[in-house]
Amino acid sequence: MNAERRFVEELDDFEDDFDRWYVEVVRKAELADEAPIRGMRVVMPYGFALWENMQAQLDWRIKATGVQNAYFPLLIPRSMLEREAEHIEGFAPEVAWVTQGGSKELEEPLAIRPTSEAIICPMYARWVQSYRDLPILINQWCSVLRWENRPRAFLRTSEFLWQEGHTAHSSLDEAEERTKLMLEVYRDFVETELALPVIPGQKSESEKFAGALRTYTIEAMMGGKKWALQSGTSHNLGDHFGKVFGIEFLNAAGQREYAFNTSWGLSFRTIGAIIMVHGDERGLKLPPRVAPIQTVIVPIWRKDAERETVESAVDGVRESLRDVARVFVDRRDDKTPGWKFNEWEMKGVPLRLEIGPRDVAGNQAMVVRRDTHEKQAIPLDELATRIPQLLEEIQDNMFETAKRMLDENTERVSTYERLKERVAANAGFSRVWWCGDETCEEKVKTETKATIRCIPFDQPGGTGDCIVCGKHSDTEVIMARAY
Ligand SMILES: [Zn+2]
Repeated sequence: MNAERRFVEELDDFEDDFDRWYVEVVRKAELADEAPIRGMRVVMPYGFALWENMQAQLDWRIKATGVQNAYFPLLIPRSMLEREAEHIEGFAPEVAWVTQGGSKELEEPLAIRPTSEAIICPMYARWVQSYRDLPILINQWCSVLRWENRPRAFLRTSEFLWQEGHTAHSSLDEAEERTKLMLEVYRDFVETELALPVIPGQKSESEKFAGALRTYTIEAMMGGKKWALQSGTSHNLGDHFGKVFGIEFLNAAGQREYAFNTSWGLSFRTIGAIIMVHGDERGLKLPPRVAPIQTVIVPIWRKDAERETVESAVDGVRESLRDVARVFVDRRDDKTPGWKFNEWEMKGVPLRLEIGPRDVAGNQAMVVRRDTHEKQAIPLDELATRIPQLLEEIQDNMFETAKRMLDENTERVSTYERLKERVAANAGFSRVWWCGDETCEEKVKTETKATIRCIPFDQPGGTGDCIVCGKHSDTEVIMARAY
């Protein structure tokens, strides 16, 4: 077996062992590497370039709603973190503490932020006096730390990269509007840029953010085991944090009130979703809009005499594509073209251009799509118009393919037996009636390991019988196992 074949064949476990496939793809596509610290990973340049492109697309969307970026400290004094009981109860098991500064033991231990409400809200309390100081609309890009014993690159690491938005408002309605607006920003970002179809909805009481009034979420279906991945959440915190942290203001009538808060976050877990939704037995498949390299050019020549002709044609093509696509020319001479094809497929580059002596003679390039493997010859002088079109077609096709997977693996289920069967068979999402009782929710979780992913905004209307107890219900929920 030659090396080229081996590179691909090691991914044979796509169907059999999806979890193993995931680990392999992350490593071979050079997205991340193991770190010498338990629970942590190093994001490698290719993975980080992907994250930067994602950041850019999400950042302008957030700013377009009037939000500004700022930065708050990494450390939170224990007394502040513990001020909100539910919040600390939810996060306590995952919090890491700094107890020493230099050689001196600290009088008060400092938590490494698991999320930043407890450091941001006290600042808002200082900044807000009157209703005229509201709303405060701030976002920060940072990393947070939640101690993790079962790490998985991007999906579950102790330290992870994200953005967290924190707003304060003078009314509950305004906070609710903001909470939903940011969920819509996430939906638009994830569907448009990452080609990931999602189901937006509300979390049940037991699944909501610790201390929140309501949590909204977008849920995506992964390939392989068809489990769910929570891909972004937005929380209406009510005036709860306002009261606890003393964010008080004088309203227009001169009365004292507490501010209403929201917080919302999207992390690099969504890279995990890109890998698992779009990937296949050949590796990663990146959505063109965020792919670090959108088009790779592989020059093909055998004899030195051919080299110059090919290289100069390649230079011309590269130049003509400079303003229309992110292009990389793979000039390595210690790898065969076949090796390069496999490697760039593994890395999920949307388009590959092959240019050899015969192509140069015919004034054309061979263009190969990563999503369909379709091959076509395109005249060199048409590349600058055709490549951007093809990238758009690939983006659309990837979304449509993922949407089909989501639809085909979602079923309305009316008996508990059928629900159990589907969960056990990794058959995807089940839409079921639920009475709203936590006992029923808990029973499903204990017996099947499936959870209520969300109460979709898109409700069928009408009523039905609770999947567990048979009681009257007017709420349909999505149940599935989740990462
Ligand atoms: Zn019930």
